[in-house]
Amino acid sequence: MKLIHFLYNRKECWGALEGSFIRPLKDEPFKGIKLFSRKIPLNGVKFLPPAKATKIILIGLNYKDHARELNMNIPGEPLIFLKPTTALIGHKGAIIYPAGVTQLDYEGELAMVLKKQCKNIKPRDFSKYILGYTCLNDVTARDLQRKDIQWTRAKSFDSFCPVGPYLETQVNPQNLNIRSYLNGQLRQNSQTSQFIFKPEHLLSFVSRIMTLYPGDIISTGTPFGVGSMKKGDKIEIEIEGIGRLINYVK
Ligand code: MG
Repeated sequence: MKLIHFLYNRKECWGALEGSFIRPLKDEPFKGIKLFSRKIPLNGVKFLPPAKATKIILIGLNYKDHARELNMNIPGEPLIFLKPTTALIGHKGAIIYPAGVTQLDYEGELAMVLKKQCKNIKPRDFSKYILGYTCLNDVTARDLQRKDIQWTRAKSFDSFCPVGPYLETQVNPQNLNIRSYLNGQLRQNSQTSQFIFKPEHLLSFVSRIMTLYPGDIISTGTPFGVGSMKKGDKIEIEIEGIGRLINYVK
């Protein structure tokens, strides 16, 4: 099932995608999925990030092909960092190019959204705690990342975390094609089978550090082929079985 979080008549709603229509949910999907019988046309709704994050946790290096590209050793444990929730934007939202930044990069990633509050999860119990999967663009001011010791400034500008368009509840995250297109040209082309740390291990690792809440986001890192964007560019992150997240740089 593809869940969509959207604005309709200025109200925040959740729904399930049915062809070119949305069937609204009676409540947030974290509280169980109950559908209304009426339908809303998909055309014209404003997409919101399909999450309700109190925090966004991202992984520094998690694809074997990306590690080879950077000439880096395979890490012994995940390197994690946070983005603030104020960085979130939805499908078709604008990525704002900050004044003073000289290199603005896209990083196409598979993200998981939490279903339940959890702490100290074992990898084998992982699937009980995940509501679904979506596309995420870990937008990065690379010049500031190189300059600063902490990555917070480079990763945290408003609009630096596009997420969407849908939250797919039934896909298996272990073997999906992931691609990024800049102005229609293929730039990243990999497979989640290249993960260094699998989603169940990432959830377990993060949950040993912090309590996770329904709607929190864990992003799984980016593959080979990261590159830069300019004002006016169109950036698309496509993941097999989930959809294509489209944003424009302003
Ligand atoms: Mg990243």
